[in-house]
Amino acid sequence: MVPEAAEAERFQAQLLAWYDHNGRHALPWKQPATPYRVWVSEIMLQQTQVSVVIPYFERFMERFPDVAALAAAPLDDVLAHWAGLGYYARARNLHRAAQRIVDDHGGAMPERIEEWEALPGVGRSTAGAILSLSMGQRHAILDGNVKRVLARYGAVPGWPGRTAVARELWAVAETLTPEARCADYNQAMMDLGATVCTRRNPACLLCPVSQGCRARAQGEQEAYPEPKPSKRLPVRQTRMLLIESDQGVLLQRRPPTGIWGGLWSFPECPVDADPVAHCRAELGITIDVPEVWSGFRHTFSHYHLDIEPVHARLTGSADRVMTGAEAVWYNEHSPLGRGVAAPVHRLLQHFHQGA
Ligand code: SF4
Repeated sequence: MVPEAAEAERFQAQLLAWYDHNGRHALPWKQPATPYRVWVSEIMLQQTQVSVVIPYFERFMERFPDVAALAAAPLDDVLAHWAGLGYYARARNLHRAAQRIVDDHGGAMPERIEEWEALPGVGRSTAGAILSLSMGQRHAILDGNVKRVLARYGAVPGWPGRTAVARELWAVAETLTPEARCADYNQAMMDLGATVCTRRNPACLLCPVSQGCRARAQGEQEAYPEPKPSKRLPVRQTRMLLIESDQGVLLQRRPPTGIWGGLWSFPECPVDADPVAHCRAELGITIDVPEVWSGFRHTFSHYHLDIEPVHARLTGSADRVMTGAEAVWYNEHSPLGRGVAAPVHRLLQHFHQGA
């Protein structure tokens, strides 16, 4: 259901009046809302809530105040400032895109939507948000919050991951987006989705567009948008080896692509392998009798990873182990200026509490 022009005008007026009094006007990336700051915030917000993002955003801006500083920084440094936010491909894409802006655009932030969409990690909605929020250009957006509001408002059936459903939601978004005050309108849609039209128990009594909302009229607000058809996630298993020497615990840098690409992690071995033999063959080191700690599950979007931690002491001198750019003996006195994935952080904390 794509609204008629009169309905679109009413929707815009109701939403903007609500935004003037209830919108989140004090968000740090709005002060000032430069293209660089809005871009970084939009990438951080892609899978993460505003309250979690704010301190990360502020630390990121202190360390990388502009696109030139971000492009010139080592990836390790960028990942370290992202550690804990998850979905690390976002940080790697941000870094690569900054280098492209410097190399291909002379460091000037792009002003056309096609240029933004050509950058790694920037899709149609993110590109529209950057250009509308920072430059006032008219572009529709369709992030997770906006999808939810529009799917409910129009009672749009189907899972938005399906092309036909996404196409319909984009058509609704385009029709409702005004020519004037597009930045305020888009921010208002995001705010409405985050604070009123929430996933569970939407506060329809406080909603400025409730009169026209089809899902509310049906009494079926939570039926929209339809969830992704469920699929059982496969389970994988690994052993993480916490190898300890007098100098600390051994961390290795993971390959640049794949799960936790470029982050620091423990060496791993298959669950059916003998850790002593594995360390000798793969790492060229000897360890004493390993102790298996209780395992836990980490869930990615496409599989579960069951992690079995194994702790062992190095026998022989730590100095003989090759360390440097790809491996370090990490201890709690050395600051963790390195990106580590959440399960590795958890194990390091456990390790230091028990050590
Ligand atoms: S009336 Fe309720 S369900 Fe409809 S858009 Fe507003 S908050 Fe969402």
